[in-house]
Amino acid sequence: MENTADIIKGLMSKMKQSIAVLLFSLCLCCTLSVSANTATTSISPKLKAIESVYKADSQQALILAKELITEYPDNAEVITWLGRLYPIFSEFELGYEYANKALTLNISAYDKTYMYLTLADYYQYKQNTQQQFEYLEQAIEYAKKTEDPNLIVEMVSAYSNILADNNRIDQAMRFMSQSYELIDSVTSPDALSTMYNALCNIYLKTGHTDGAIEAMLKSIDYVIQSGNTQQLSVAYYNLADIYISTNDYEKAINAYKNSDKYSRESGDIIGIAYAYMGMGRGYLQAKNYKQALRVLLDAKQRFLSENIVESLIQIYGDLASAQLHLKLYDDAQASLSDLSALSSYKTEKSAYTYIQSMNTQASLFFALNKFEQAYQAQKNYTEQLKDYHQKQLDASTESAFEKLKNSIYAKDNQLLLLENQLKKVELDKHKKQTNFLLIVSLLSICTAVFVTFILSRNIKLQKQLDKLATTDYLTGLYNRRKIMAILSERFIQFKKSKDVLYVCMFDLDLFKKINDLYGHVMGDRVLKLIADCAIKHFGPEQPIGRYGGEEFLIILNSENYQAAYASLEQFRAAVEAIQVDGLFEPVTISLGLSEASVSDLYQTDIIQRADTSLYEAKKSGRNRLCGN
Ligand code: GH3
Ligand code: MG
Ligand code: MG
Repeated sequence: MENTADIIKGLMSKMKQSIAVLLFSLCLCCTLSVSANTATTSISPKLKAIESVYKADSQQALILAKELITEYPDNAEVITWLGRLYPIFSEFELGYEYANKALTLNISAYDKTYMYLTLADYYQYKQNTQQQFEYLEQAIEYAKKTEDPNLIVEMVSAYSNILADNNRIDQAMRFMSQSYELIDSVTSPDALSTMYNALCNIYLKTGHTDGAIEAMLKSIDYVIQSGNTQQLSVAYYNLADIYISTNDYEKAINAYKNSDKYSRESGDIIGIAYAYMGMGRGYLQAKNYKQALRVLLDAKQRFLSENIVESLIQIYGDLASAQLHLKLYDDAQASLSDLSALSSYKTEKSAYTYIQSMNTQASLFFALNKFEQAYQAQKNYTEQLKDYHQKQLDASTESAFEKLKNSIYAKDNQLLLLENQLKKVELDKHKKQTNFLLIVSLLSICTAVFVTFILSRNIKLQKQLDKLATTDYLTGLYNRRKIMAILSERFIQFKKSKDVLYVCMFDLDLFKKINDLYGHVMGDRVLKLIADCAIKHFGPEQPIGRYGGEEFLIILNSENYQAAYASLEQFRAAVEAIQVDGLFEPVTISLGLSEASVSDLYQTDIIQRADTSLYEAKKSGRNRLCGN
């Protein structure tokens, strides 16, 4: 957990640097787009209007684009805009149509990227994951053609988000690390918000809720910067969903309220309905049944008029539960009937609502003193719940496990309660008890399988996250954060034990010249070769980290100064002897050695002295080791 939090912190510091660049590039973009558009015909002011409003008011942008298409039915830019804007309003079929049309026209790689994203959205809507993945890969391919790190990170993050959605966590993390590699040159808040969004999802799927919330809040910060109100409403909705999962209903409700607010601002009618649906869920969980009823009835009307069946299913399920608690038994029964009327639309996603509704039905029977029916309903419920969770095994995550565990505990209690009631009405006690025990033991087996599975998976994930957070991707050495952490530990040890501690800082000589003469690819290769040489020479006992671009830090375990000096001198010679294909002169390094002193207050004091020695080595002709 600490390491995953480290990733976030590392990213944050990098992002701060990006903000300055952001302002600059925004100016640049404006200048470029103005000059690009002056050449086109009278359609261009209208296209510019779409460009300028599409974030803050996507609805207005869509209205403008729809107006334009009647006037200019063959204009590639208008078609592209429609391909981009329709999916925002859940008009996936229309988005699909225009995106396909746009792709037959002469549009830029940038536009193609978004068109493929639209096609992917369409297949998500169609629940065709295979096609969705293929189009996302196409989107990434075209993003790479633009060589715009912003667009690449946005698409790569979108992909890892979807991978995480589909529980392909390993792959999601691999794509995430592609984003990390480019992060230094990313300036667009859209890309950064998408990246944090994906990070949030990975955290969620691996059960790191704190990290997920932190990432989502960062994502929201960047969406605010980008000024995309529609996206902001989605982000708040997602944040609220996380709060729901952590039982923080108050925060959840507030986040849903924000989602509602920004849906209204962006004219996203369906967004409002979703926010109300979420609020209803929040109030329900917070046991504020009156408020739950109010917002759920409102949401019901909205979804009815839009005829969004999937959401209606959830609404009916939640409504029934709220009505049951408010003792509106007839209404509750009516909601349950509405729900079963939609059962032919049941999907994998809404299956859970149906299962839960059996629980509501059981409680309703129970409230009406129909104990026999209540028992049957409850038994069906428990059996189906078990099946449901067993199916979830493949797609399991720690959070799913938590949910399962909690629901099993809660349901065990509920079953016990019913059992007692049944005893009171003198039903066939013995038979029921056998059934009851059978169900409970089945559930326990299921839990045990789950625990084993999740534990092994989580250990693997944690290791991958740790590696990602502590390794420098180019050289495979520790990154700066990690080597400093190790030094900090050693320094504390040194302070306690009064043992010795030697640190070396080394820097490549005239490396800029290698880059300038042979190119950066060669430069990178040299860095990697020297890193390999260092690993070979110092072994795993003496940690080496990339301190800066071409500056490295070694923590030695030599017993005395002479030994440390001799080992470093050998290393210097080994580097000089490296043969680099295509490089005509030898590569050399300068090194500075320093020893920790009892008077040192901070670990940086040791580094400071190593740095001073390194400077001396450079000054006195390079390719040498200096110490103090
Ligand atoms: P000196 O001997 O005084 O250290 O000279 P130098 O040219 O090595 O020093 P300087 O600090 O001016 O240049 C360091 C260069 O290292 C500049 C930068 O472009 C390059 N560099 C830093 N990180 C990387 C990297 O990851 N890959 C490549 N190829 N070059 C890098
Ligand atoms: Mg150098
Ligand atoms: Mg340098």
